[in-house]
Amino acid sequence: MGILDIVQPGIVYGEDLYNLLKYAQEKGFAIPSVNCTSSSTINAALEAARDAKSPLMIQFSNGGSVFLAGKGLGNSGERASIAGAICGAYQVKTLAKLYGVPVVLHSDHCAKKLLPWFDGMLEEDERHFAAHGTPLFSSHMLDLSEESLEDNIAICKKYLARMDKINCMLEMELGITGGEEDGVDNENVDTEKLYSQPEEVDRVYTELTQISKNVMIAAAFGNVHGVYKPGNVKLSPERLGQHQAFIKKKHGLKDDKPALFVFHGGSGSEKSQIDEAIGHGVIKMNIDTDTQWAYWSGVLNFYKEKNAYLQGQIGNPEGEDKPNKKQYDPRNWIRKAEQSFIVRLTESFKDLKCYGLF
Ligand SMILES: [Zn+2]
Repeated sequence: MGILDIVQPGIVYGEDLYNLLKYAQEKGFAIPSVNCTSSSTINAALEAARDAKSPLMIQFSNGGSVFLAGKGLGNSGERASIAGAICGAYQVKTLAKLYGVPVVLHSDHCAKKLLPWFDGMLEEDERHFAAHGTPLFSSHMLDLSEESLEDNIAICKKYLARMDKINCMLEMELGITGGEEDGVDNENVDTEKLYSQPEEVDRVYTELTQISKNVMIAAAFGNVHGVYKPGNVKLSPERLGQHQAFIKKKHGLKDDKPALFVFHGGSGSEKSQIDEAIGHGVIKMNIDTDTQWAYWSGVLNFYKEKNAYLQGQIGNPEGEDKPNKKQYDPRNWIRKAEQSFIVRLTESFKDLKCYGLF
């Protein structure tokens, strides 16, 4: 059985999404969830997935969504982040089938202060469900890890009940991921807090799966957002295995990997740690920092190579009156960024064993 026996090209929803993630656990791969902030990066992600023959997750952060709507629009009442996420989603929805790729359409970290953004996307999902029988997004993430565990779970439950009615999946985060992302700064936190405890993960699993099985859990196991200084924090993926064993035993389950785990802050991780995390049931790994660098380095290398053709509209080593339009046309240098992004994302597909699946 191949992956296209489970899901079809296009956006993946509901039961199909759950089956895809359990299939990933069973086969031992994780799907890269790529932060996209523009039509260019969306297309590059789709192209990379098509050529890698891989399913793909595309996610929009709050800041990325604002950027998709245009930084100049202004984001009062989260209007730009809501509209930008919806624009991005419709681009992915329109193109995913044409690229022939199964895509999980997702939104990234949403802290409590950003809930109006979450509400806006969910309202669009509900409108889409009423008209077409599916939500617009496959899934959304709530990051209430800064709140108490009680509040975190309570708010997740409230939203999950609403999302379950339209077959939309929830990703939640517990514990603290170090580093800084989207305005949440955990640079100087006590390091023991960087690891979720089995009882905490089980409590989340127990309370949320009573409402719906469509839950992904980002538990902290020493992760740090962004590229971190080696030696600061020890990544301990074996803790995820301990959580799975705890949940299995407590609930008397047959499944060795009952929880669908997500790997945040994996940039710069060793391949062996990624392998180990996947072995313990990680089915989604966020990819942002490394593809950001790749996108930029595509432009940087192009500039270095074509420096003499990029100093004015006319005049280059071939002659004073020679035009440079072909070089500075954004379609030329942005394409270099895309190609570099694609090379880096292909590496992630291989690292996550999410390669050559159809
Ligand atoms: Zn996170």
